Amino acid sequence: MRFILKYIRPLGSRVAFGMSLKLFGSMMELLIPYILSHIIDDITPLKDVPQVLLWGGIMIFCSLLAWAGNVIANRFAAGVARDATRAIRHDLFGHIVSMNSRDIDRITIPSLISRMSTDTFYVYRVIGMTQRMGVRAPIMLIGGIILTLTLDPVLSLILLAMLPFMAGLIFLISKKGVPLYEELQHRVDELVRVVRENASGVRIIKALGKTEYEKDRFQQVNRGVAQQETKASVIMAINNPTTQFLLNLGLVLVILAGAQRVNSGLTQAGKIVTFMSFFTMILNALLAITRFLTIGSKALASARRLQEVMETETEHTALPAAEEDPSAPHIEFRNVTFSYNHVQPTVQGISFSLPKGSTLGILGPTGSGKSTLIKLLLRFYDPDEGQILLSGRDIRTMELSDLRPRISAVFQNDALFRGTVEDNVRLGRQLSMEEVNDAIVRAQAEPFINEKGGLESPVQAHGSNFSGGQQQRLLLSRALAGSPEILLLDDATSALDFKTEAAFRAALREKGGSTTLIIAQRISAVMHCDQILVLEDGLPAGLGSHEELLRSCPLYQEIASLQLGGEDA
Ligand code: ADP
Repeated sequence: MRFILKYIRPLGSRVAFGMSLKLFGSMMELLIPYILSHIIDDITPLKDVPQVLLWGGIMIFCSLLAWAGNVIANRFAAGVARDATRAIRHDLFGHIVSMNSRDIDRITIPSLISRMSTDTFYVYRVIGMTQRMGVRAPIMLIGGIILTLTLDPVLSLILLAMLPFMAGLIFLISKKGVPLYEELQHRVDELVRVVRENASGVRIIKALGKTEYEKDRFQQVNRGVAQQETKASVIMAINNPTTQFLLNLGLVLVILAGAQRVNSGLTQAGKIVTFMSFFTMILNALLAITRFLTIGSKALASARRLQEVMETETEHTALPAAEEDPSAPHIEFRNVTFSYNHVQPTVQGISFSLPKGSTLGILGPTGSGKSTLIKLLLRFYDPDEGQILLSGRDIRTMELSDLRPRISAVFQNDALFRGTVEDNVRLGRQLSMEEVNDAIVRAQAEPFINEKGGLESPVQAHGSNFSGGQQQRLLLSRALAGSPEILLLDDATSALDFKTEAAFRAALREKGGSTTLIIAQRISAVMHCDQILVLEDGLPAGLGSHEELLRSCPLYQEIASLQLGGEDA
């Protein structure tokens, strides 16, 4: 609730103006039955046609005013809802892009997507509705009750007797509804996750003939959403008919009692007609309030989910700044231990130091923690123990905006974006044409780019119009183009043939400059590195040059004899 109010407050004057108009419109509406009563009871007996026409005219005028007031107020309400939701989405997006990786892991991307879309929509609806109903419904309800009391207090008692039942109903429903809708949103997250997995894995699903299986899987979550929706709706659906029933029952009683009272001369026929008009207004107001509660329950659940995102911490802030020491190793890992789940360490006791411009190969079975080391260096996560230093300065003392531009990374499943080859290489950076071309040549991407039509040739989303090896070379071009101080290649040459990979390695060595970490499955990709770190289950199994490891590290020997054949090893 507070979350939504925060975004409404800056639009306060528009809300106030719109709601004042609404108030005016509602007052006009309340006047109409009153005038009707006056016409029936006081004017008609006089048989004075011009008077009837006059009061009829006044009635039409009032209803025109009510109409205009309501229409303009509704437009204001829609505008406020639109602007507030835009601000919410803006802040949410800003927060998500700078959110820390642990919270992203916890909330999950599919959930973030549905929060950005579905949940903001529910909030949008409730902001609009509050302004449309927030004044009108209470005025109609309270105003209606007061006016009926002045008309005929005895008949009003029937109405008042109904109210406690309705209040109880509203209370029960809102208490039941909110948790059900929270659960529903949860199921929608699941649905988004499955759709996302399907969409991104559509080729493999088709290739493996798993379409039917995936359809079943989708149907299951879809059914889950439908069931939950039904469960929540069934509770909410008790609302309208029960309210209608209670009020109609009241109406019947009013007519019965009213007929008695008119016959005994205690009241007039016009008053009964007016009374019934008010009764309908009160009925509508109550229905609006219950509908509002349904939508409000959803929106409250949504607002909580949005607030949860906004309350997560953004990426780690820096410790007090420290000095760099040019004589210290360029990159140093000092006894680094880290765990994703805080239970079992993913990597443990990792130490190495790299002089400027040197290369480190990281080798090990999948899941041994190789990529994790790179994520730690980029500060997607911070180590639980130990330190990572750049020129002797703990990276936690650096602002992310200072640290990350010094590093270029290519990940296993990195993204190419829709645009041109040049856009993808530049990635919004101010680079000279020479730098772009030089990077493309070094990444061995020149031949196929020329074939495709040069720098201006189009790249589809995810680079789908390029082969796996070509995509990797485009990504390598992007990474090399900034002449980064540090270059991180995470399995970035796995799709290249041996000849191209060798040419790329030679180009990398020739230009030099960047301190480079290369993660690879193939020993040929790292054997020429200055140092090689061998990982096994997150623990260091060896550190040294190719020759040293061949002598001292059994795991390395094993990998080497498997991959290089007996004689090289
Ligand atoms: P490698 O690069 O050697 O294949 P990773 O560093 O990617 O290995 O992963 C090491 C281990 O950490 C794996 O067991 C993996 O399941 C786990 N892991 C990786 N990323 C996450 C994450 N975001 N949350 C939880 N566990 C993770």
